[in-house]
Amino acid sequence: MKSTGIVRPVDTLDRIVIPKELCNTLCIEPKEPLEIFVDGAFIVLQKHPENTIKTAKGNLGIVRKVDPVGRVVLPKEICKKLNIAPKDALEIFVEGTKIMLCKYEPARACIFCGEVQDTVSFEGKLVCQKCIKSISKLLEG
Ligand SMILES: [Zn+2]
Repeated sequence: MKSTGIVRPVDTLDRIVIPKELCNTLCIEPKEPLEIFVDGAFIVLQKHPENTIKTAKGNLGIVRKVDPVGRVVLPKEICKKLNIAPKDALEIFVEGTKIMLCKYEPARACIFCGEVQDTVSFEGKLVCQKCIKSISKLLEG
């Protein structure tokens, strides 16, 4: 699973905008039905398969259409389950053809610049590769 590095807020109507780049990569068109279910701490959005495979036990498989501007309404029961309130920020990940959303936790980001990709843990804090390079440059100079 890869982080897209994109963090988007849920609006007051529990909608989230799916980044255009992602829609393009995954061939998601406006009005496309997406299957939405919960996998651990993640909300999974998946292009609705022709032959719906029943999701694993405990998963709430709900089908919602992407609106003309690329938004999808997150089902209330899923928001409740994952403690997602309007205006909460969700981090967007991709795994294969699935879009995974997870409540954004700044603790997952670089302590210096907020980058969430390519971070390593050092003394219990996260630092990204870019900042590590900047720091080592400081030492060289
Ligand atoms: Zn950084």
